[in-house]
Amino acid sequence: MPPRPQIVDALIIGGGPAGLAASLAYARTRTTAIVFDSQSYRNEGITHMHTVPSRDHINPYEFRSIAREQITSRYPSVWFENVTITQAAKKQLGKENYDGFEVTDGEGQSYQGKKLILATGSRDVYPDIEGFKENWPQHIYQCLACDGFEQRGMPIGILDCSPKTAHFTNMALNFDARVTVLTNGAVPEVAAIKQQLRICEAWGAKVDSRKIKRLVNNGPTHEEGVTVEFEEGEPLTLGFIAIKTATVNRSQDLIDQLGVECVEPAMGGHIKIVNPMFNSTSVRGVFAGGDTCAPMKQVTISMADGLKAAAGAGIEIATEKEMATQKLLEEDFGGVSGGYEAL
Ligand SMILES: Cc1cc2nc3c(=O)[nH]c(=O)nc-3n(C[C@H](O)[C@H](O)[C@H](O)COP(=O)(O)OP(=O)(O)OC[C@H]3O[C@@H](n4cnc5c(N)ncnc54)[C@H](O)[C@@H]3O)c2cc1C
Repeated sequence: MPPRPQIVDALIIGGGPAGLAASLAYARTRTTAIVFDSQSYRNEGITHMHTVPSRDHINPYEFRSIAREQITSRYPSVWFENVTITQAAKKQLGKENYDGFEVTDGEGQSYQGKKLILATGSRDVYPDIEGFKENWPQHIYQCLACDGFEQRGMPIGILDCSPKTAHFTNMALNFDARVTVLTNGAVPEVAAIKQQLRICEAWGAKVDSRKIKRLVNNGPTHEEGVTVEFEEGEPLTLGFIAIKTATVNRSQDLIDQLGVECVEPAMGGHIKIVNPMFNSTSVRGVFAGGDTCAPMKQVTISMADGLKAAAGAGIEIATEKEMATQKLLEEDFGGVSGGYEAL
């Protein structure tokens, strides 16, 4: 491995699918990059990931480790650092005063790069229900395409009471006819929600509006499943529960330090993408990929986003280089544009 330059082309914060896709693109184009990985991944705790063609049912730890190994064993221009970045800021770099970035890890070590890619992911916010954490992600799933198929043939709970409940219930009915919508308390007097619950009932699902007291993890298999205890009445044992959890950006602190704009919390609170072709953000030089900027949070989408961010940062560097060269050429020829023809 050649020595790492003081100023790399890109600082990539995040070693999940988005950061790995960005770094592979750089490895292939001999672009220099450092990937920072605090090793906190959204899908922590799952043993199989799905909906990724050719990698269906793979352990996500294996997936990331193969990706890293392929990059480090074949290509010399990408470096990995298992550290947490705690500070990120714009900085004029080198003797050229390049308008770049400096990031600092938890140990105080600083790293400099021309462009910055935020592939920092998001994390799920658990509802305030006793036992929720103890069942996540073993018996509680946020996506029925990701999980559900292997657990089919057991009663399912849909922990949702919103204008999207019927959509979720419809998917669950593909896995078992015994679906119960858990509203966790009285159904709000909202016509759209009541209509959703009526649709679910028309499809054969039950609606249980009792307040949940706690969730009990009965053991690792879906045959053991999860028992829902209510504030009153009989408990209900299910193979699994599905819920659309709210998410927040894992590294909102860095996003704030850089002044990168996010969409409204009601729209997801993720980083606002200004140019979707190259995943640029509201701050010049900062690009984003993966869950931290995507309303639809999936591995394949994150990988595509990571690639777009890498391309965006790469093109910005190339454009700046072109412009600098053009300026030099114009100076050489006394600002006469016709000078190019003389070359
Ligand atoms: C339980 C569960 C199961 C799922 N199953 C599937 C599935 O089967 N199929 C599917 O397509 N999707 C699935 N998903 C969604 C999938 O996990 C995400 O869409 C995907 O991981 C997003 O990739 P990412 O690279 O954006 O973020 P992540 O994979 O979360 O990676 C974020 C990276 O950023 C790093 N990071 C963050 N902040 C810092 C910092 N300050 N310094 C250094 N590093 C930092 C983290 O350490 C990590 O390396 C699942 C999600 C959950 C919650």
